[in-house]
Amino acid sequence: MDDSRTIATVFGARLVEFGHEVVIAENGQIAVERFQASAPDLVLMDIEMPVMNGFEAAKQIRAFEATQQWAWTPIIFLTASYTPENLITAIEAGGDDFIPKSSPEGVVQAKMKAMARIASLRAELSLANRKLEAQASQDGLTGLFNRRYMDRRLDEQWRDAIRSGAPFGLLMMDVDHFKRYNDHYGHLMGDDCLRAIATTLAKVAEQVNARRLARDAFAARYGGEEFAIMLPRCSAEALGEIARATVEAVQRQAIPHIRNADWGVVTLSVGGAYIGRAEGPLAPLFRRADANLYKAKEGGRNRAELA
Ligand code: GH3
Ligand code: MG
Ligand code: MG
Ligand code: MG
Repeated sequence: MDDSRTIATVFGARLVEFGHEVVIAENGQIAVERFQASAPDLVLMDIEMPVMNGFEAAKQIRAFEATQQWAWTPIIFLTASYTPENLITAIEAGGDDFIPKSSPEGVVQAKMKAMARIASLRAELSLANRKLEAQASQDGLTGLFNRRYMDRRLDEQWRDAIRSGAPFGLLMMDVDHFKRYNDHYGHLMGDDCLRAIATTLAKVAEQVNARRLARDAFAARYGGEEFAIMLPRCSAEALGEIARATVEAVQRQAIPHIRNADWGVVTLSVGGAYIGRAEGPLAPLFRRADANLYKAKEGGRNRAELA
């Protein structure tokens, strides 16, 4: 990107020779637009350009990057006036290096190489960071969202519901006679069973979203053999339907459990709570769901209690 077309063309041609793909912008404004459109690996920019100078263009590029996750592209300024003031302004504007136009080509290439090295390290870090983030929100056993994620996401969803006075539904669930399951089939099969249930619950949440019965519903492992499904903006009728569908879906998996005598297969009890217009703290909603879960157990298990 350069005011003088000849320099841009010469640089561009050389870069192409070295196997780079080159996008040229005639001024700062176009540079920002091309940057957003083509996401380059590196920016070579003249400070002196018409319409918008290099400093301003660099600032806008950095502002755009700030809206993207972990984005950073090296910006190298080329200038005819290699003054300390220009260097300071260049760095302040978000530039990473500053080279006189008169530099030998080898120097420009070397600086680009150094910057590319930093950029690729940064890209690796970004990838590792995203993987860690995903892992930190996942339950190691089942792959479902974990308690940590649930608490954070739920807090956001609840605040959002309060802001918009929207309804909110919550389902708490607990596997029936799971201690007996472990005692009879062993903990390894117990783990498999929890994974299978988690898969089913994730599908339930997915279907709820697909059918728009709630907004951004998600299932999480609350702890041990207890799970939860969050149902922002769902109706009271939908909550009941989803609760019963969940109980049914787990029973239909038909995982043998001879010591769950009434059913012979693994079953789940569900307690639900609902508020038509979110307000105040979330804790009472949880307590109601918990109390209803207890009722579902008392009532014979393999059922949903919502009242
Ligand atoms: P109820 O129907 O009243 O819920 O009976 P329950 O046996 O399911 O209830 P309880 O709370 O007594 O037992 C829960 C069991 O869940 C005990 C524990 O060993 C088992 N459990 C919790 N987490 C895991 C896990 O990660 N893997 C396995 N295999 N078992 C687990
Ligand atoms: Mg339990
Ligand atoms: Mg229990
Ligand atoms: Mg249980």
